[in-house]
Amino acid sequence: MSQPYHHYEVVSQLVEKAAAAMHLDPQVKELLREPVRTLTVSVPVKMDNGTVKVFQGFRCQHNDVLGPFKGGIRFHPEADEDEVKALAALMTYKCSVVGLPFGGAKGGVLCDPSELSTAELERLSRGFIRAIAPIIGPDRDIPAPDINTNAKTMGWFVDEYAQIQGAYRPGIVTGKPLALGGSKGRTEATGRGVMYVVREAARAFGLDLEGATVAIQGFGNVGSYTAKNLHDLGCKIIAIADIFGGVYNPDGIDPYPLKEYEQETRSVKGFSDTNPISNEELLALECDILIPAALGNQITKENAANVRSKWVVEAANGPTTPEADVILSQKGIFVVPDILANAGGVTASYFEWVQNNYNYYWPEEEIDNRLEQVMTQAFWEVYGAYKEKDITLRIAAYIVALGRLEEAMRARGWVV
Ligand code: GLU
Repeated sequence: MSQPYHHYEVVSQLVEKAAAAMHLDPQVKELLREPVRTLTVSVPVKMDNGTVKVFQGFRCQHNDVLGPFKGGIRFHPEADEDEVKALAALMTYKCSVVGLPFGGAKGGVLCDPSELSTAELERLSRGFIRAIAPIIGPDRDIPAPDINTNAKTMGWFVDEYAQIQGAYRPGIVTGKPLALGGSKGRTEATGRGVMYVVREAARAFGLDLEGATVAIQGFGNVGSYTAKNLHDLGCKIIAIADIFGGVYNPDGIDPYPLKEYEQETRSVKGFSDTNPISNEELLALECDILIPAALGNQITKENAANVRSKWVVEAANGPTTPEADVILSQKGIFVVPDILANAGGVTASYFEWVQNNYNYYWPEEEIDNRLEQVMTQAFWEVYGAYKEKDITLRIAAYIVALGRLEEAMRARGWVV
């Protein structure tokens, strides 16, 4: 199924396109061409059966002109160096598009967490943090959760880092459990941010969200909170799929009981009052908003022609391949790009880090108000760039992001 896909090259081409549309200083492009550094590590883990297995991992630091490197760590069999580099670059542009004082980074460990026990996962997580400890730090590079990592993983990271440093530094990672200086609203934030972007896009493009039909691929942290927030906004969630399969009901599915069901049975499959639907069928559903909220490369040149939604909102990172992007645009489908749509997560991470630095914690309402403000403002800024030129929302988002990066590079004297 998987042909070679050059993740980093894909992001570079987007930058190229945006740079041409905005007449970006070529020196800025040159400085963004390759990541600052990528550390490759081998992490030995004592397995439960007494043997030792070595896992390969990466931490890529793409660019830090705006502030310390920031980005999640994923555990996945496909999280190779090229993918991690591309995801790190996406973080540079994501942080910039929403105006956060962070650069971009990403980490990955090549593993299949479903084959590891909790104890093995803990040893792997601690081993990975020990391996990348020399290049991270609360003012240097701040990891966070991503695919197959969560607050529990961050708890192990914080603890391991405290042992290495001989001092407790909660600001070393974000997405922590509340008990360790995590922030209220962080877990929900990516999905909540998707909702704010959808809400503003509906205003901009004149879509009535009351009863608007939504199909979501993925029901993990991002997909489930996206579903709940859009449901609360009045949208009708007609289909949801996870890796095991999906459920469909044209009259709408309530994501709250669905999440409870999924937590008990590990899948949405078989939920009451729904019909089964495959991932491919979900992507081809006629609906207002299609939301890929799982892995990358889901909408491809093979299936893009089948997409029948009005919009695609990228809650996942890199769910649309460049060829598919062209097909969607030719079909008149608006794509709200990943670096804008899913930036709510890292925005709440920023709030968490600020609270850690102050050692003073905000109520949930404050986090949510600030998140709403950041996402709303970012949407309209991107929309402004989009309106000005004959470009896609994706290129508009890159133009906004590159503009900020250029300004910071000039201010630092990196370019004249
Ligand atoms: N992994 C998330 C992302 O891709 C969050 C990163 C963070 O909070 O630093 O945006």
